[in-house]
Amino acid sequence: MYSIILLEIELSITSRQRFFESQYIDPMKDTSLFLKNVSRVNAVIIVLVRNKELHELRETMRYFEDRWNKKYNYPYVFLNDEEFTQEFKILTKQMTHSETYYGLIPKEMWDYPPWINQTKAAEIRKEMEDQKIIYGGSESYRHMCRFNSGFFFRHELIQKYDYYWRLEPDQAGGFYYERWGDAPVHSIALAMFLEKSQIHFFNDIAYMHPPFQHCPIEEWFHESDDEWGSCTKNWFAI
Ligand code: GDP
Ligand code: MN
Repeated sequence: MYSIILLEIELSITSRQRFFESQYIDPMKDTSLFLKNVSRVNAVIIVLVRNKELHELRETMRYFEDRWNKKYNYPYVFLNDEEFTQEFKILTKQMTHSETYYGLIPKEMWDYPPWINQTKAAEIRKEMEDQKIIYGGSESYRHMCRFNSGFFFRHELIQKYDYYWRLEPDQAGGFYYERWGDAPVHSIALAMFLEKSQIHFFNDIAYMHPPFQHCPIEEWFHESDDEWGSCTKNWFAI
């Protein structure tokens, strides 16, 4: 027995299509990009990472170098709350022709501020863990998000650069009471202080961070921007 369901697909214009029609300049069709003398900008690849993530990171670097950085050789700054091992330094340096720098995060950038009630913070971690909130029970995650929100750009190794690009190994808050993440902090800052026209949407560069991704192919082909958990569709709608 088969039953046939006919789906009627309504063709209405989405906010994403509106964005592409009215605001987005396809870089392949933007002649000014070819005419300008496009050169490297004063930028750095920042990687906050643990020694034990070395092998996942090498895999990420392989992709990143092959698809992008071998053409530009942007330098890397690796940051860690513990000293990097010799093995880590040697095996990451091997993956690139770029310069690589290794920094230790000062303790005060990776610790509770004195006014935080650590008993309360520990109780809340336990509650969040019981509620199965992702990273709910992790103390280091909270230090990490606070560092990545408020301090990374003050690290001495980053000072001479104008732009950064963050790279992570591809695994799958207040910082201490609410468990704020660092990504929303960055997004909220941009939403508060910049006009939409001052923010560039890198349509032509693929991005993946589980559980979502963006694919730089023709807009009607792929719907990953609309997946659960991705805010990209909200951005199109602004
Ligand atoms: P998510 O992106 O919010 O899911 O969190 P991740 O676990 O991917 O962590 C974000 C980044 O911070 C990744 O590059 C991790 O390698 C790094 N990271 C997370 N926790 C620590 C930590 O305790 N120490 C160090 N050095 N890096 C960390
Ligand atoms: Mn991550």
